[in-house]
Parts: sequence; C-alpha cells; structure tokens
Amino acid sequence: MDQTLLMLPGPTNVSNRVLQAISKNVVNHRSAIFGEILTETSQLMSKVFKTNNQSYLLTGSGTAAMEAAIANILNPNDKVLNVISGKFGERLRDITNVFGGNSVALNIEWGDCAKPEDIKEELEKNEDIRAVTVVHNETSTGVAAPIKKIGKVLKDYDTLYVVDTVSSLGGDHVDVDKYGIDICFTGSQKCLAAPPGMAAVTVSDDGWKVIDNVKSSTYYLDLKKYRKYGVGTPPETPYTPSVTLIYGLYEALKIIEEEGLDARIKRHEKAAKATREAAKALGLKLFPKEEISSATVTAINMPDGMSDSELRGTMRNEYKVELAGGQDHLKGNVFRIGHMGNITYKELAITFSALEMTLKKLGFDVDLGSGVAEVSKVFI
Ligand SMILES: *Cc1c(COP(=O)(O)O)cnc(C)c1O
Repeated sequence: MDQTLLMLPGPTNVSNRVLQAISKNVVNHRSAIFGEILTETSQLMSKVFKTNNQSYLLTGSGTAAMEAAIANILNPNDKVLNVISGKFGERLRDITNVFGGNSVALNIEWGDCAKPEDIKEELEKNEDIRAVTVVHNETSTGVAAPIKKIGKVLKDYDTLYVVDTVSSLGGDHVDVDKYGIDICFTGSQKCLAAPPGMAAVTVSDDGWKVIDNVKSSTYYLDLKKYRKYGVGTPPETPYTPSVTLIYGLYEALKIIEEEGLDARIKRHEKAAKATREAAKALGLKLFPKEEISSATVTAINMPDGMSDSELRGTMRNEYKVELAGGQDHLKGNVFRIGHMGNITYKELAITFSALEMTLKKLGFDVDLGSGVAEVSKVFI
C-alpha cells in the first residue's frame, strides 16, 4: 500500500471507512436495495448543497457535471456569460463553445476574482444572457469567488446562475437555495473525500424550465432522463452507475453528516490559515491576496531559483508528500497545497516538516520547525 500523503486539490486522502465501503460486492442497479442507497446518497448530497432540490448522481469526474450543466441548458447560439479567472473558468467557456453556445467571456487576471459589479455591468451590456457560469473555488489559482454576493446581483436578472463547487463543496460555504443558484455541481474526489469517479448536480425549478425547453445535445448526460429514472420505483439512474463508487460516496457523506457541515468548514478554514501562516513563516510568498484566498487549496509562489521538479520531486521522493504544481502559465511559477477533505493539523505538520527539510536541502534559508509551529498555533 502506497503511504504517500496526498496534499492535493483532488484526489484527496480517502478514509478507511470509505475504503471498506467500496470493497462491498455489487448489487443489481435496478433493485429496491440499490434504489434505497441511491435515494439516501442523493438526499445526503442535497443536504451538503443546502438545497431542497433533488441531487442527481453522475458516473464521471467533475468535468462530466460541468458538461451536464452546460449541455442541458443551451440551444444553438444562446449567450452564456463565462466568468473566467483560471483554468476551470476556461473549461466552462470551452464547454459552452463545444455545445454551440455563444460565450461572452468576463476575463479576470489569474489570482484575482470577479467582483459582483463587474458581472452586473456585463449583464447590462449584453441582452439575452441565458446563464452565468462562476467557479466558486478556482482551484488553479487558490482563489474563492464571492458567490453569495454574485447571487444577489443575479436575482434581478432573468438568467440562470450556474456555479462550479467541485473544489469547495464540503469545505467552504455553499448554500444553493439561499444564494439563488440554479445549477450547482461537484465531484467526489475533492472536499467530499471519496474516490474519484462520481459527480453530482442539482437543478432549481427555473433551471428545469429552461432544460425542458431545450433540445438536449447530449445523450449520456441528458438530465431529463436522470430526473425521469430518479422518480421511478425503485429509483434508478438511466444507465449503469458505478455502484461501488456510490457506496463510497454514501459513506463519505455520512462522515460529513457526523462531523457536521459547519464544523467541517471551520476545520478547512483553520487548515487554510495554518497553511498560509506556515508558508509565510518560511519566507514563502502566497500567490493570491489573502482576503480572497481559498479555504481548500493554497497557491504559493515558487521560491526564486528553485524548479518545480526539485521542490515537488523532493517532497514526493524523499518525504512521500504529494503537492500539486501550477497549471498552464503558472506551471513552474507556483505550487499548490491542497488542504481539503480529511486534512487536520496532523497532515499539515507532516507537510510543513517535509517542506522545511526540502527547502533547506535545496539551499533555501529556513529555520526548521518554524512552519510547523505556525500550524500548531492555529490549531491549539
Ligand atoms: C477538479 C475540478 C473540476 C473537475 O475536474 P475533474 O478532474 O473532471 O474531476 C472542475 N472544477 C473545479 C473548480 C475543479 O477543481
């Protein structure tokens, strides 16, 4: 068994309880017993989304849910305002284009995030915006967007609010019904701490009104079919789902319920603060401004003269701690520490102990223990 510690923005470390759950034998996916598991998992999912809407489970990674969210609401040339401040905002734009949408991009510098006023301005400038896409937690830059405030702005407009919470749900505040989110989606392998391979999407009444009037351009991800099969006796999915991964997701959601969503978010906020304080104590520079930094992943500038393969390679090979690199133009310029899912002071103490040794070995001037001390200070 590989004992590498995953300090990644997904996939995250999976608990033994969840590992045991996925080792159970499969059952008929069109049986009463599976219908019960499907219903309960979907109900637990809606609780985490904080919505009275039904949640639908898709077998696929988070990108499948991104695709479902877009493909189901677009007729050719429908305008979508894509708010883009990193890799995942770009992905939603690309999906919009693939499904024949007319993307209006609100481009924001990577490391910053959209202001509600900017979105309002775009909505005033452009008529007929069918939907606005926002990435809550831009994993590529470690920045959280103000989705509550953006929701307030969108209430005055006849447009769907589509929010990607793949790397925030279960680790940061998401309140689908209160924020007025029409389509919200997530993936299993990030803050929910289940194995990769499942996604979930929830749709408001306004969302369904649009979906019901659009000729779906996707077969596998046609949400109308998920709705139809979901209300059957027993409840089912249209095609064979990953029964095994749904066992795992169910167990992961039970664990979240036991910890309590508020306590879990507080733990993530503490982990984020500890990570930032420890990084600063080591003389490292945070990539985004602290006020907008993510609760689940921290992007840190690569120290001058150090390469990504030296830093992350040493962490991986010598200390068995896996960190994430930068994406696209940030490759080699930043590294990222994921602190989502099950992360506590234990994993952070190991991570910063390893990071201190790595930096020292690579000739960087650090006081051993100074990062770990900040972790303790935040968690004590
Ligand atoms: C990880 C992630 C996704 C989906 O990625 P998959 O690799 O398909 O699971 C989408 N949006 C954000 C913000 C993410 O972090």
